[in-house]
Amino acid sequence: MVKAPKNIAVIGATGSIGTQTLEIINSRPDLYKATVIAAGRRVDDLIELARRHRPAVAVIADVTKYNRLREALEPLGISVAAGDDALCEAVCRDDVDMVVTATVGYSGLAPTIAAIKAGKDIALANKETLVVAGEYITGLLAESKSRVYPVDSEHSAIYQCLQGEDKADVRKLIITASGGPFRTWTADRIARAKASDALRHPNWSMGAKITIDSATMMNKAFEIIEARWLFGFEADRIEAVVHPQSIVHSMIEFNDGAIKAQLGLPDMKLPIAYALGESRRLAGAEKALGIADYANLTFERPDADRFPCLTLANVALDRRGNSACVINAANEIAVAAFLDGRIGFIDIYRIIDRTLDTIPYIAKPDYEDYVSSNNEARAFATSLI
Ligand code: NAD
Ligand code: MG
Repeated sequence: MVKAPKNIAVIGATGSIGTQTLEIINSRPDLYKATVIAAGRRVDDLIELARRHRPAVAVIADVTKYNRLREALEPLGISVAAGDDALCEAVCRDDVDMVVTATVGYSGLAPTIAAIKAGKDIALANKETLVVAGEYITGLLAESKSRVYPVDSEHSAIYQCLQGEDKADVRKLIITASGGPFRTWTADRIARAKASDALRHPNWSMGAKITIDSATMMNKAFEIIEARWLFGFEADRIEAVVHPQSIVHSMIEFNDGAIKAQLGLPDMKLPIAYALGESRRLAGAEKALGIADYANLTFERPDADRFPCLTLANVALDRRGNSACVINAANEIAVAAFLDGRIGFIDIYRIIDRTLDTIPYIAKPDYEDYVSSNNEARAFATSLI
């Protein structure tokens, strides 16, 4: 039985996933209440959201914005806090039932760990948490009553397909990829791509970092790693296929050769609502897909020559240890530098590759090892720019 209204902590509330989550919560006050909202730096956006959604607590990670937040929200009876530790404390509050992890990058790791240790259910958008520390997080989940509901559209699709099925009957997970804005570009043209080109995603409107990850196809490599830890399938049973229309969100293939897919418009509202509802369906969560309007659903093999970041999924899952943590850190630095116009598009892969070759390998990292690998990889990647 799902408790209603369920109290939700939305971390990364001002972002693409965060604002869509709050819209769903707002549309169903009988089912959901935003108890905690948190953001990184955009304090004015957070204040505006707090005025509208009236959470118990608003948290800003950037401590320099604390006074501004307090002056605006304390008169409304909303508690305020600032800093990374405050974020971890807020998701563990007694009145939080589920945490939506919609922060971007490595910043999702610590609050997700705190929430799992406190036994909170997780609606997981922040894939980087499972990329950085998938093995470690899986271990924590085994000892916690927390359940994880995927928000990433591909993983939500696989999760939906697995309902009512026996995993032993499943041969393969097939993750679809739009191919991004450079799918049809030559390698030479891709090499000269600017941030404005890469930010023009054909199907999805998302935050800047994941949009660049989609252009390099690093996002698909991350999603293979995410699927590895969410569903417990080894890398050789997870395949990526390019599907430019982004209508088939992903598929599972059974031992008898049958393939089961989930289809829908490219709109994150459906997977967010499915996660908030713990696999219950919310009527009208997404505009209906008129299937007759999509006469051509096409599929093609991804091209790792033009998109070398794709190969990093297998590298990370073969080596394990801190490898994916290092890849993620170098990618975050390289993507930020590319967005600032300080490096070219192909430098993103080069920086990740060199960082991975340089940072010492740790086979069985504990939490402190992830923290130090992340810091070292960021420092080294920065030195390459
Ligand atoms: P975004 O850039 O739009 O928003 C990021 C949010 O995180 C903002 O609210 C920001 O304030 C917050 N944030 C940034 N740094 C922070 C920090 N240090 N501490 C606390 N909060 C911080 O990003 P997005 O596109 O909404 O993506 C969020 C996550 O969801 C990412 O991990 C992304 O890969 C995943 N995801 C997004 C989509 C999508 O459609 N946008 C789809 C699938 C998965
Ligand atoms: Mg996705």
